Amino acid sequence: MYLVGAGPGDPGLLTRRGADLLAGADVVVYDHLASSRLLDLARPEAIRICAGKSVGHCTLNQQQIHEVLIEHARSGRAVVRLKGGDPLVFGRGGEEASALRAAGISFEIVPGVTAAVGVAAYSGIPPTHRDTASAVAFVTGHNDPRSGDGRLDWSALARFPGTLVVYMGVTHLAAICETLIGEGKPADTPAAIVESGTLPAQRTTTGTLATLPRQAVESGLRPPALLIVGEVVLLRDRLAWFERLPLFGQRIVVTRPEAELSRSAASLETMGAEVIAAPTVVVRPIADPGPLDDAIGRLESFDWLVFTSPNGVRFFIDRLDKLGLDLRAVGRLQLAAIGPTTAEALAAYHLRADLVPDLFRSEALAASLATRAAGSRVLLARADRGRTILRDQLGPLADVTQVAVYQNADADALPDGLDDRITAGSVDWITLTSSAIARRLHALLSESARQAVGTRVRLASLSPVTSETVRALGWEVAVEARDYTWDGLVRSLVEQADNEERRRITLASPEA
Ligand code: SAH
Repeated sequence: MYLVGAGPGDPGLLTRRGADLLAGADVVVYDHLASSRLLDLARPEAIRICAGKSVGHCTLNQQQIHEVLIEHARSGRAVVRLKGGDPLVFGRGGEEASALRAAGISFEIVPGVTAAVGVAAYSGIPPTHRDTASAVAFVTGHNDPRSGDGRLDWSALARFPGTLVVYMGVTHLAAICETLIGEGKPADTPAAIVESGTLPAQRTTTGTLATLPRQAVESGLRPPALLIVGEVVLLRDRLAWFERLPLFGQRIVVTRPEAELSRSAASLETMGAEVIAAPTVVVRPIADPGPLDDAIGRLESFDWLVFTSPNGVRFFIDRLDKLGLDLRAVGRLQLAAIGPTTAEALAAYHLRADLVPDLFRSEALAASLATRAAGSRVLLARADRGRTILRDQLGPLADVTQVAVYQNADADALPDGLDDRITAGSVDWITLTSSAIARRLHALLSESARQAVGTRVRLASLSPVTSETVRALGWEVAVEARDYTWDGLVRSLVEQADNEERRRITLASPEA
């Protein structure tokens, strides 16, 4: 049984030990503050139990949590109890561990980045500083300081010579600030509130003990949030970096097929964006692998093997493996990839593409192949549906065999709540990376959401071909990738954000 700290929000802040344990877990019992993205690290068949706290239907009380942990651990399963931040900092990890000990169950405790530490880094407010803060206190603001329950000595905290970091202080924020001032802490002491720290929705409000409660009301403060009180708050001007990331605060819907989603999401997230995954196409092995197996069986009769997507590469090589073959089966063939991402998928198997066209689309691949592969025997490994340009253009020049290595199946629905978010305009961008995806998204959206698309929610398209389809659907394209790759699309989004940022700055400056 493992009590594992999930970190403050950003899934990248989980420890390696935590990741290893999640990967091996049979059962994961998690809090709502633990990132749902971390649950993806567990095997698909692992049992996931939401222990809740505040989110309606999946709330267990502390006693029930103990019972669930004990029951699963007793039946010999590898149980991970995943807790937000650090399990032992305001996390009741101590209580859970004692319940386990009492039940005779052995456990390991894996620390996590506690909110105070994670939020400090991501907001640029160091809890300690050589000149201004030689101590830091982690305080719970869960109880009303005026209740007189005696759990905290607020008078001592007002005199505390260092930084105060108050957890769970949203409800009683005004009372906490007033109490500290009443106990003698200067009303102009710098103070900050950091909401949803380390997450794309992070929001920081700075002021003083006197001003913060009103600012919080005005800005509609929402938990989870930390209150930080002390001179160190002033360092934020110099040290903030997270909010300065190029796509910080942008909420981007990624509609790419499942298999490419996590990699695509990661490149946006490192730029500070919030990614909302909405796969419109799910990728599966083809229902009847007969023709593929047949082509694999006579690979020596081809000169070129052509891949038009990373999935094509993966499914083809998986199939080799299933048939008891290995990479030597393609050893004699020339390999072509439609673009750098497909070439990378080959490189992951230590295969080097002999041909990658400069422009990343079927026409360019056909043109390059037309000169290199004329008169030879070409095997096209592709999805069960998609453009047939390659076969059409190469057909007259070479002996082309086309075989489906995987199938694209349409997703039946968008993730819960996404349609509403689009209608309300509470996402900023939707990325569209193919015509099929654009059409599928259109079909899945409600009429009101369709109307918001292109107006309140902007569209970023991968290529002119995709943009054409998007326009035919009645939508406007706000950004088109200059080179037709995912990374190119991300670059174009960054440029767009830069331009808008610059415009905002120019507009704000009176000299302009
Ligand atoms: N064990 C957790 C704390 C649980 S108490 C830890 O070590 O971090 C829950 C409180 O933590 C919240 O009320 C809030 O004050 C703080 N918190 C957790 N995640 C946070 C986040 N991402 N941003 C700001 N505060 C957070």
